[in-house]
Amino acid sequence: MSDGQLITKGETELDACLAVFAAAPRAGALLCDIDGTISAIVARPGDAAVSQCFLEALAALTERLGLVAFVTGRTLEDGRRMIPLDGAAYVGTHGLEVMAPGGQIHTEPQTERYIVEVQEVAAAAARDLDCEALGVVLEDKRTVLAIHYRLATDAARTRHEILTKIVEPARGRGLAISTGHFLFEVRPPLPFNKGTATRRLLAGGDYLAGMFCGDDLTDVTGFKSLHEWAARDARRAACAVAAVTAETPSPVIEGADVLVRATPGIYEALTRLLAAVGG
Ligand SMILES: [Mg+2]
Repeated sequence: MSDGQLITKGETELDACLAVFAAAPRAGALLCDIDGTISAIVARPGDAAVSQCFLEALAALTERLGLVAFVTGRTLEDGRRMIPLDGAAYVGTHGLEVMAPGGQIHTEPQTERYIVEVQEVAAAAARDLDCEALGVVLEDKRTVLAIHYRLATDAARTRHEILTKIVEPARGRGLAISTGHFLFEVRPPLPFNKGTATRRLLAGGDYLAGMFCGDDLTDVTGFKSLHEWAARDARRAACAVAAVTAETPSPVIEGADVLVRATPGIYEALTRLLAAVGG
């Protein structure tokens, strides 16, 4: 397979950014989503896995770059279970919790008061949705309830059931709702997302090159924070890389500098990054 098929747009932008990574690897920061970006999307989130070739490339990048961070909607524990790399940082539940490269964990303190509410919604979902018949998989992340419906045979009906029985009542009690590929999430109504996490991580070092790889709407906030960070200093270079499939929402495509085929195109971009920093 040729590179041209894997990287479908933004070769020039990618090369320009890699040159800045190459000049000073320790001033390079890689932020990377997990599902749909470095692991294939699967119907049940528990079945997702990061392949050995990605693990090896990411381990080598963690040794060479100033920062490698995995920014995921999964919990911290789950993100680390999928990619157990010492020296990497992890951002869980879309920015509500952060694990620094040294292992220190920071949970946004305001989330605690919403846990009871989110857990009540989780209990209601388990009770009121016929998950088996609707093709729904509930993922209880303590501070966030994810409702996956990729397995639905009648997606419109399943969506309607989720909206009327869970999402609207949750919104009514003041919780926030976010959406993704065949996914609703019930979360605390707090202004933390992958964008705020990206800002925090990039402010934590003297970085000059940044790359954010993602595939879904929640990653667009990360792309935006990366671009804002780069715009504040002319020496900085940034590259937002979108892992694209036929299902990719248009804001993801519009917000990215580089488009690649999910997920082998991300592997190609990471391999080029590794070569640029001497791997
Ligand atoms: Mg994703």
